Amino acid sequence: MAQTTPNHTQTVSGWAAHDSSGTITPYVFKRRHEITGLITKVGSDVSKFKIGDRVGVGCLAASCLKCDFCKQEEENYCDEIQLTYNGIFWDGSITYGGYSKMLVADHRFVVKVPDSLPMDAAAPLLCAGITVYSPFKDHNLLESPGKRIGIVGLGGLGHVAIKFGKAFGHHVTVISTSPSKEKEAKERLGADDFIISTDPEQMKSKFRTLDFILDTVSAHHSLGPTLELLKKKGTLMLVGAPDKPLDLPAFPMIFGKRSVKGSMTGSMKETQEMLDVCAKHNIRCDIEVVKTDQINEALDRLARNDVKYRFVIDIAGKP
Ligand code: ZN
Repeated sequence: MAQTTPNHTQTVSGWAAHDSSGTITPYVFKRRHEITGLITKVGSDVSKFKIGDRVGVGCLAASCLKCDFCKQEEENYCDEIQLTYNGIFWDGSITYGGYSKMLVADHRFVVKVPDSLPMDAAAPLLCAGITVYSPFKDHNLLESPGKRIGIVGLGGLGHVAIKFGKAFGHHVTVISTSPSKEKEAKERLGADDFIISTDPEQMKSKFRTLDFILDTVSAHHSLGPTLELLKKKGTLMLVGAPDKPLDLPAFPMIFGKRSVKGSMTGSMKETQEMLDVCAKHNIRCDIEVVKTDQINEALDRLARNDVKYRFVIDIAGKP
């Protein structure tokens, strides 16, 4: 398949496909995309990058550049933000994500991948990493160790959140519905504590003990029991799926002085900072690398939640 748009001079081959017939067809992938690669060309006005640089492009492709958010380098809050997939680029063309041999991106939406981070394990950090890093930063958790932090859900976002939590010196409790994940959480990822959210006794044992909770679960679930774990003035932060279904407690009184906030991704400046922090603390996403001819299988496994913790497609590798 070859795709081109009127204003683009480059024709790009895409592999995006998911069809039981096995035929390669354009595939609308509902998750976000993160791409790493080497620069092969730079525009004449670009001074920040040169050919051969190791770089990444996250889920943001363009923004208005004029609003207050854009001017303050918080383009992730811009009303006209355009995503890397199915977004509309400044020239009117559609963005097709990273399932291709090459990607044309604006330099403002490109970050440098530090040398010590592998390109494949760095790619998902551009989404999972920034999504959990941003709340840590916003709540002054980067340089103030010793807080008690809860991470709800141990998946793509949750496992990176544990790594950040430990790297920044906090006590980390994982809150999960799956007892089978305890060993992984504690022994491999370094969590200090693990509790089962469906076990009232375990939940009660942590009543009002946590300063900050990051809820990474995208499935419908009640926030009431989680809020009970927060200290007064604590914060529950919801991250991940933008359309996360919420089931807030029936009585607002339960909040007391605790607050619930939501967050999606971060700015480009923060994304660069996050990658640099990951390089410093040797934090990566745990990934499974697949070749282009394994995409269908990977998507099937993704639908069953059978991945630890992110698939990365090696587009440059031979199928
Ligand atoms: Zn804007």
